[in-house]
Amino acid sequence: MSLQLVWFKRDLRIHDHAPLAAAARSGPVIGLYCFEPSLYAAPDADAQHLTFATECVLELRARLRRRGGELLLRTGDALEHLEQLVASLPITTIWAHEETGNALTYARDRRVRVWARGRGIPLRELRSGGVIRRLDSRDGWAETWDAMVRAPLAHPPARFTPLPWSNTPDAGADAAPSPGDPPTADALGARAHASRVHTMHGGERAAHATLTSFLADRGVDYRRAMSSPVTAFDACSRLSPHLAFGTISGRQAWQNARRRAEALRADDGHDPRWRGALSAFTSRLMWRDHFMQKLESEPLIECEPFSPAYANLRPAVPDAERLAAWIEGRTGYPFVDACMRALRAEGWLNFRMRAMLVSFASYHLWLPWQATAAALAPHFLDYEPGIHYSQFQMQSGTTGINTVRIYNPYKQGIDQDPTGAFIRRWVPELEGIPTEDLHAPHAMPALVAQMAGVRLGHDYPYPIVDHVTAYRDAKARIFAVRESVAAEAEAAVVLERHGSRRGRRA
Ligand SMILES: Cc1cc2nc3c(=O)[nH]c(=O)nc-3n(C[C@H](O)[C@H](O)[C@H](O)COP(=O)(O)OP(=O)(O)OC[C@H]3O[C@@H](n4cnc5c(N)ncnc54)[C@H](O)[C@@H]3O)c2cc1C
Repeated sequence: MSLQLVWFKRDLRIHDHAPLAAAARSGPVIGLYCFEPSLYAAPDADAQHLTFATECVLELRARLRRRGGELLLRTGDALEHLEQLVASLPITTIWAHEETGNALTYARDRRVRVWARGRGIPLRELRSGGVIRRLDSRDGWAETWDAMVRAPLAHPPARFTPLPWSNTPDAGADAAPSPGDPPTADALGARAHASRVHTMHGGERAAHATLTSFLADRGVDYRRAMSSPVTAFDACSRLSPHLAFGTISGRQAWQNARRRAEALRADDGHDPRWRGALSAFTSRLMWRDHFMQKLESEPLIECEPFSPAYANLRPAVPDAERLAAWIEGRTGYPFVDACMRALRAEGWLNFRMRAMLVSFASYHLWLPWQATAAALAPHFLDYEPGIHYSQFQMQSGTTGINTVRIYNPYKQGIDQDPTGAFIRRWVPELEGIPTEDLHAPHAMPALVAQMAGVRLGHDYPYPIVDHVTAYRDAKARIFAVRESVAAEAEAAVVLERHGSRRGRRA
């Protein structure tokens, strides 16, 4: 009797899982998930990731068992556990998805490949979504992506070939390996970087419930409501943690959205806002793979700028006080602090506010994006290295190919939180300040401050930097590099390597 081993990583689902479907067609299936201390105790990880992953794998195990499979949970180095299983069980093939992760998973996967070759055990790694390994050119990438999302889903059979030990014990049956339990955060060295209040749960069921509520109801005003943190928590899909842990595939989300669009077309009375909402949503599913492709093609962008001309733009070592004030939400900019505190509690923030937080750190505070990206990663439940580092660089001006955008934090606050409700919720020390002074409390008259009962510099800090000066200095510094001959030459190279071809053709 031979076994097919499916190594689950950030693909914690059974539906639309090509390696699982292929493995199940080849024989009895046993799955493996490793809680790797090297990943969960790393600076970019947080205990919230462990909690979410644990929920995902427990549900996955129950689903696999219902089909006649098993999921082994192990704590430790993945390679050691793979070796142990291959040594003790009649495993003929290891199946997995190609993963576009951080430098640690990249190195781990390379070690596993070398080991599998040396051990003579076939390791079948299948493409994950629209990200292509060893991609030569971006030409034609979007067309391949279109074909991928329209292709049939890879579902496993309803019943797997029975495992050898599920039969009543007989002389020929193999001994069942222990299924194993998830570790505690302490055992794994996983650290909680903040106290969280969020209620996002892992697992395939939660992923589909989240998508369904978005497509049926919450998403109707998506295009308008996605920009403000007041409305975005409800109006955005909130699918990102599920996509990051793989409890749903991008293709499943895309096909569900397309089906919804078709149903709406047949319904004359539908709200016209749905059309834009669904098309904006499906575009973003492509952006996801577009950004992840950048890291897949150039893993170094986790720590080096896309364009080398920007390598020494900011100091290599961040100003510790500025970094601490930013990550703890006490910069003296109420809207910036409210966004940071909301993110720390909720594990999620909408795109525009993430961009503003990073712009503020990279321009106003002139902090190196490598340090701020590492500091923010544990707070994103949906931390996805491919999107994270590409977006950090984009919002910090170091890609050399994107428009430089320096957000005005006061304007963002007034535009996106006009009543101040969001600030009052997350920066309660400013609660009593009238709305017209709330976005820039340092400028309010002393009498107003007194009546509001707020002592600036004591209850809430003065602005850490002056907006006008910081903005002017940052702009001068970034454009001094951007307009250099070296930066212009490198921009062409970055564009060729990573740029979307869609706009170019148009
Ligand atoms: C500095 C910075 C860091 C970011 N880091 C991450 C990260 O670690 N993980 C992550 O999933 N997203 C990241 N994003 C992108 C974006 O903010 C989130 O994907 C989005 O807010 C998730 O919420 P949602 O699922 O409701 O998104 P929706 O708006 O409902 O979009 C659906 C899906 O499309 C994808 N998507 C949406 N916007 C983008 C985008 N701009 N670029 C790439 N893919 C996108 C995501 O997978 C998202 O789940 C980052 C953005 C910035 C500015």
